[in-house]
Amino acid sequence: MQSLKNTDEKKSFYFIDKKPKKQLIVAKFGGVCMANPQNIEKVIDVIKNDANRKIIVVSAPGQSNENDKKITDLLYECCESLENNKHNCNNNDYDNSSICDKVLLKIEKIFIEIIEHFKLNEATISNDVFNIKEIINICKNQNKFEINQKHIYCDNFKSFIASRGEFLMAKIMAEILNFEFVDAIDIIKFNNDGELDFIKTNKLIRNKLTKYKRRNLSPTSKKRRGVIVPGFYGQLPNGQILTFSRGGSDYTASLIAAAINADLYENWKDVDGLMSCDPKIVKSHLNIREITFNELRQLSYMGSKILHPDTVLPARKKNIPIVIKSIFEPEKQGTKIGNYINSKNVDMVKAITGKRNQVHLKIKKIMEYNEVEYFFQVFKILNDLNISSIQFDANVDFIDLFFNQNEIKCDEKEFIEHFKTLDFLEISLKKDVSLIAIVGEKIILNSQIFKRLFLCLNIKNIEVLYVKINSNGSNIIIAVENRHFENAIKIINKLLFLSKA
Ligand code: ASP
Repeated sequence: MQSLKNTDEKKSFYFIDKKPKKQLIVAKFGGVCMANPQNIEKVIDVIKNDANRKIIVVSAPGQSNENDKKITDLLYECCESLENNKHNCNNNDYDNSSICDKVLLKIEKIFIEIIEHFKLNEATISNDVFNIKEIINICKNQNKFEINQKHIYCDNFKSFIASRGEFLMAKIMAEILNFEFVDAIDIIKFNNDGELDFIKTNKLIRNKLTKYKRRNLSPTSKKRRGVIVPGFYGQLPNGQILTFSRGGSDYTASLIAAAINADLYENWKDVDGLMSCDPKIVKSHLNIREITFNELRQLSYMGSKILHPDTVLPARKKNIPIVIKSIFEPEKQGTKIGNYINSKNVDMVKAITGKRNQVHLKIKKIMEYNEVEYFFQVFKILNDLNISSIQFDANVDFIDLFFNQNEIKCDEKEFIEHFKTLDFLEISLKKDVSLIAIVGEKIILNSQIFKRLFLCLNIKNIEVLYVKINSNGSNIIIAVENRHFENAIKIINKLLFLSKA
């Protein structure tokens, strides 16, 4: 069993005991929390209810209901129509720039509704909205523009436009709460390769935000109680904006929490924490009350959408507990994430997750081959093909690779052709495969699970195409055909959780 140092243990358990009086909480609010004025009212209540919530990170407004579109999706739509417009610039029948204008109007309407509801001065954002429109207009006709005496190239305007949802939302929230607005470009820095520059980022976060750590204001103080930071983006050395991958505001908040050694990172959503299974697939899921950093990382990587997959990394490094809570039920405990391991239930399954539409590439090796050289060649080909995220497994005869189907940009035959430079006995590619992960810190100790799992799937005629247990025994991954995905999850859920629901 994992042993924890005494001090670490205390830190990660502290939220179970009585709350210390003075803490620094970084609170991140997701898209649904920001979707409409009614939800924002709830966010404001949450922030006002605890004076320790001093550093607030926001997403762009998300969906109020299933038919709505997230602001970020609308902004990407706008970019796409602009790009198409450039490609079709001689085709006057098809004016994509007007599609973009329509999308912008929709976005403006969402923000205006919020501004009117909170009786803010429209000037709060009108200049910024004007700037966005102006930049879009410039990019329709030319290749670069200038902001703060820095050239921004329109080729990279996508990140700039996509980031405006968070930017405007943070400005509005700062105005509503009378908090300081700190733009993410001033604290989140990338290097020329677009990778996060941790050293610079940590330094800037500390410089800008540490003052809030000790700030305890009297009710009459004129100083601002806290700060609002837009999530999701940062700045390249040339001044341009770059976004993280989708859902990246979770990561922004984790970076901030780690850099300033916050006591707690709260991630506020429209659901009361993490569930044992996707509630869209299984109604009788359980709410997970405690989960380790490691388990959450596995779940995020294997398809759970609860937090951006990289969120755990900075928090885990500094052992900063994360709690996922709902703005609609703030009194409920949510899910706590830390180094926490309950020794009684160490082999317990915490959750099931999975991802559809994977490709299974199987290579039967020629045995005499130098293994390292062989793997190197395989990875080189994958890299040349721009395959970014893979599940990789190898044994004496086979290499098994899984990756997202949409990463294959050519037809299957052509794709396989790229591997022809390798010596192999056989190579096969199977599309429409799903990976399902069963996660729990030490499930490997629970031998019953394995027996029952394969028996149940077999009875229902679900063929298991592949099985893998990760090296620390905290994750079983199986592959099934897409058509069995939901059913397999339901069967596994019934087997592992239903008696407890
Ligand atoms: N708004 C962005 C997205 O929808 C980033 C975020 O919400 O974290 O992906």
